[in-house]
Amino acid sequence: MFEVVIGLEVHAQLNTKTKLFCSCSTRFGDAPNTNVCPACLALPGALPVLNKEVVKKSINFGTAVNATVNEVSTFDRKNYFYPDLPKGYQISQLYKPIVENGEIFIDFEDGSKKRIGITRAHLEEDAGKNIHEDDRSLVDLNRAGTPLLEIVSEPDLRSSDEAVLYLKKLHAILRYIDISDANMQEGSFRCDANVSIRPKNDPKLYTRVEIKNLNSFRFIQRAIDYEVKRQAEAWEDGVYDKEVVQETRLYDIQAGITRSMRGKEDSADYRYFPDPDLLPLVIPKEMMDEGRVIPELPDEKKSRFVKDFGIKEYDATVITSSVELASFFEKMLSLGADPKLSVSWLTVELLGRFSHGVSIENSPISAKTLTNLVKRIEDGTISNKAGKDVLDELMASGGEVDEAIEKLGLKQVSDDGAILSLIEEVLSKNNDKVEEYRSGKDKLFGFFVGQVMKASKGSANPAKVNELLKQKLDN
Ligand code: ADP
Ligand code: MG
Ligand code: ZN
Repeated sequence: MFEVVIGLEVHAQLNTKTKLFCSCSTRFGDAPNTNVCPACLALPGALPVLNKEVVKKSINFGTAVNATVNEVSTFDRKNYFYPDLPKGYQISQLYKPIVENGEIFIDFEDGSKKRIGITRAHLEEDAGKNIHEDDRSLVDLNRAGTPLLEIVSEPDLRSSDEAVLYLKKLHAILRYIDISDANMQEGSFRCDANVSIRPKNDPKLYTRVEIKNLNSFRFIQRAIDYEVKRQAEAWEDGVYDKEVVQETRLYDIQAGITRSMRGKEDSADYRYFPDPDLLPLVIPKEMMDEGRVIPELPDEKKSRFVKDFGIKEYDATVITSSVELASFFEKMLSLGADPKLSVSWLTVELLGRFSHGVSIENSPISAKTLTNLVKRIEDGTISNKAGKDVLDELMASGGEVDEAIEKLGLKQVSDDGAILSLIEEVLSKNNDKVEEYRSGKDKLFGFFVGQVMKASKGSANPAKVNELLKQKLDN
């Protein structure tokens, strides 16, 4: 049997206001070639000046993934020609990256965890964009020189599911510590997947293929699955050596397959050498200390939620999977909602009602509204079941919780008098059963509850019905 081996390289665009080596804006979507200067246009004589913010954010990242942040790191030139790269080389960090030897933990549904090593994270500049239209190609250099942190994992991932869990966790960490927007559509979180297979229990690394152009979790999963299948079939058909070569492949979204793009370059092909324009980056102690102070991370928040609110481990994983979801939940608690009810109303009911493209960031229901709903269930105004109808109504037409309850006529009857008269009605119709109950047939209690609920057409507060029935029958 085969084992799948995957290592991921993620390019995260750091959310600094200005570029890596000049003070041009990094804003997305501006008119082409408006955020440029002699340095990022590679005009002769212009020199790079390192952006301090980039260094701080890299220290933040190293801290978040429990890595070594190198006090000294260096910049190197990676030489290649492409029209979107005006200098003819990209400034990167090959020999001595800023961050090394980190780890990220992925969480499985059964509550178990797995450690995924982070080999390194290095700084590099992004290229511009080539835009092809009709019979000509245009170059937009607004993105040229934008800071990227390239985060390289160890080949520790064993399935496309693990790859996606890793990417989601990494994505969450970047957003929690606020060093990248990590917006996949805008390209500020881009992933290349290195995929190989090997016979189970063989520690050797076999030939890997690098898949580029992966811009959604779904496509990453599909591309890996396709690639694994292709390699496994080649193995079984005895053509592995011929079909699986070290190369770069592209994922074709329409066809759902990967296609060879080019043979894999070696680092020697890029004629890397230390950039003579840049001194080694030496991080001063104060900056290092400052950078090590970071916001609460997903795993920490999760443990705190489990400990403080007694919610299930897996629920806490879901709630802390994105910083927005976690804040929504925390907002609900600060408004006084019950933690356990909040978990299910948030994760199962609200998220479960989102259609494609809707997420917690643009939720039609605010934390305040969902809190009001949860409180109405808590205080017995409506049943849990009625709550679902109320949420449907709010999703469809907006408005306030109490109005929706009124409009749908879902208010539970909790008033003692009304419930007592229903109880009396039921008991008088069932004199024989009352006798049986009183002579020891306890099981009949459920029958009475059912009859009262039925008589109220489901609107009686079940807790109240139980309480009052007990009093009535046991006296
Ligand atoms: P490059 O920079 O040329 O792409 P690296 O050696 O830095 O190459 O590795 C890049 C990624 O490939 C890393 O994430 C690493 O874990 C992964 N990788 C290396 N060998 C294999 C392999 N045999 N199968 C799967 N992934 C691999
Ligand atoms: Mg690579
Ligand atoms: Zn510039």
